[in-house]
Amino acid sequence: MRMLVFIIGPAGSGKSTFTASFRDWLQSQEAPVSTVNLDPAVENLEYVPDVDIREHVFIRDVLEEYGLGPNGAIIAAVDMSIEHLPSIDKGIDSTPEGYVLLDTPGQMELFMFRQSGGIIVSSLCKSDRKCATAFLLDATLSTDPYSFVSQIFLAASVFYRLKLPLTILLNKIDVLSEAERERISAWISSPEILENEIARFPRDYDVQFSRSVVRLVLDFLDLVPIVMVSAKRSQNLDAVYFYLQQIYRGGEDFE
Ligand code: GDP
Ligand code: MG
Repeated sequence: MRMLVFIIGPAGSGKSTFTASFRDWLQSQEAPVSTVNLDPAVENLEYVPDVDIREHVFIRDVLEEYGLGPNGAIIAAVDMSIEHLPSIDKGIDSTPEGYVLLDTPGQMELFMFRQSGGIIVSSLCKSDRKCATAFLLDATLSTDPYSFVSQIFLAASVFYRLKLPLTILLNKIDVLSEAERERISAWISSPEILENEIARFPRDYDVQFSRSVVRLVLDFLDLVPIVMVSAKRSQNLDAVYFYLQQIYRGGEDFE
């Protein structure tokens, strides 16, 4: 059985870097792994994907052919990817059983929050495959409690939309200071600390709203694991593997 891991996250969060480094890490563990690039707009990748949407749709051709601006061209390219899903699907079937890492378009909102993103994910998640999402966030953008909470909201939104088991990867911890790292891990391991920090510095909007927001985030964090990683330095990838294995082996199922 194949385990499809959709690598999703905001632009620049490190999706492609993670795809390359997690692939290398899995290979070092002798776990079978393949990679699929679903980003029609990426120019350079650190890895050579086994299956590549750019063989069918490439942003430069779309730009030239349709005379669209950069965002319009990415939207068009992602939408056009749908026509080529049968080839991508066939490509996946030709990979060895095991992990299949799917690197998704840089601009997450143009992929995830448009209909085509949902279609791509649901048509590749066939019943003979397991599927999960690794949701990447840039840890350097979540060093204060408000930014942390709003980033977690993004993950919650994707979870809500895809309804797939999800693991949050707080990436780029190599550039955090020791103090920042400890502060964020305290929020993760004891969400009451996060709640208290937010309660201590209430903003001038409705306190009740703020409390509901924190409650929602805490409930969400009960459902999904968060792992602090560095894709660049391959830090903590064993913890990512641990959570994915639980899903792969059927330990966790949200369906
Ligand atoms: P994507 O748009 O989500 O695919 O992001 P990329 O993988 O292209 O990475 C965006 C930038 O973040 C690149 O300059 C990467 O080198 C950098 N980056 C990715 N992961 C890490 C990490 O773990 N640590 C650091 N310091 N930089 C990273
Ligand atoms: Mg990328």
